Amino acid sequence: MYLEDTIVALATPPGRGPIAIVRLSGPRAIAIAQKLWHPRPLSAPIRPRQLQLGDIRDPNDCKTLDRGMCVVMPGPRSFTGEDIAELHCHGGVYLVRRIIALALAEGARLAEPGEFSRRAFHNGRIDLTEAEAIADLIDARDANALQQSLANLAGALAARMHALRDQMIAIRAHLEAAIDFSDEEIDLPSHEAIIADIVSLSDSVSALHQSFARGRIMREGARAAIIGKPNVGKSSILNLLLGVERAIVTKIPGTTRDVIEESLDLGDYSLVVMDTAGIRDTPEEVEQIGIGRARAVAEQADLLISVFDSSDSFDTEDAAVVEITQGRKGIALLNKRDLAQRVSADDLRNRGLALPILNFCAITGDGLTQCKRRLVQEIDELAGGWSASDVIISRERHRDALARTLDALNSARSGLIGRAPLEIVALDIALATESLGSITGEVSSEDVLDAIFREFCIGK
Ligand code: GDP
Repeated sequence: MYLEDTIVALATPPGRGPIAIVRLSGPRAIAIAQKLWHPRPLSAPIRPRQLQLGDIRDPNDCKTLDRGMCVVMPGPRSFTGEDIAELHCHGGVYLVRRIIALALAEGARLAEPGEFSRRAFHNGRIDLTEAEAIADLIDARDANALQQSLANLAGALAARMHALRDQMIAIRAHLEAAIDFSDEEIDLPSHEAIIADIVSLSDSVSALHQSFARGRIMREGARAAIIGKPNVGKSSILNLLLGVERAIVTKIPGTTRDVIEESLDLGDYSLVVMDTAGIRDTPEEVEQIGIGRARAVAEQADLLISVFDSSDSFDTEDAAVVEITQGRKGIALLNKRDLAQRVSADDLRNRGLALPILNFCAITGDGLTQCKRRLVQEIDELAGGWSASDVIISRERHRDALARTLDALNSARSGLIGRAPLEIVALDIALATESLGSITGEVSSEDVLDAIFREFCIGK
């Protein structure tokens, strides 16, 4: 499949725009581009890696379709490792469709999503962590996500993987030596020394595995659930945080039955806020479903924004909210402070609420600045302290591979401690090496590759 055919795709977003880039990669990329594009003046030499002005023409009747630029990047020193040609034309929907159709008529094939990057991987130009970093860079929603994906694009995660792999290979070499030369009088590392090496490696793998929680927040934003009984002002608070009317605010308790999810920028972080159905013991069926979901959503959240109505007496429903907040991170908002007060922060403390409590008024916006500042502090505690030199993971694929690596290392260590045959221990180390290698793509099945590159857009 690879290297034999030439693919074409629009590399810029579809639709009208100032310019569009049609990209070709494969053995006939440059030849096809030269059928469609002609330099000005015609005698001008084509200079690789330089944008040149010319005309885009229909090769069938030689009619000019557009004035556009072309750049050719001969392989193997190109992104895909193959010959690449890009036609930069005006961003007209018909024009782009026509140019792609002409490229297809000249023998190119439409690229699959992510196929350019997949070819780059296949040709050894990037490894899987770098391919994923490209997708993350495109999806980055805040400064942290951008910084993290750039570091991985520069090979930070790949370098850490290689270092761990080298440690693993050293352990394996010691084991193989112990197996092969067990009868001979040579200086072999002791069982204890190999166990110590495995423990030290496990610690490094484990630290990386644990960085997932932080990494995910950096990549996708922290998730906060707004919880509270009906009518305390959850939807009003969500609207205030977002600065737009998103949730429906009504006086009838229990109107926010579905979970609403919105994302907002808080400093360098993005926060995904989920407004849940009111937590309430009620026989009404629909409401019940909503309550179950509210509890479930609170479970999925990194932070809770719990809301209490200061103008209403504390009741069993509020007690249920306090219970959900036990052991969780987040804040409590004592809302409706513009009305006569029936519940104070001290009352909430006495009822067992451990979260920091802020006075709030969703009608006037009083307390909003403190609320945002406090949320940033909470996210800082969850994800902060990260510097560009730290290597952290943010993808479940990496976390799962590291978990498998750890399992195999633990099994190897137990085997050594229990004096299992060294061949068995060596098998565990081989398994650990394979799991670790799957992160960079040294060992990967077509299914895994399909799943990874499917999330790319066409033309990337
Ligand atoms: P939810 O059911 O918890 O989502 O509550 P809503 O946001 O729908 O608000 C319920 C009612 O309380 C609405 O009539 C809001 O206008 C009102 N409300 C919300 N926050 C405040 C506040 O700070 N002060 C006052 N006086 N009313 C508020």
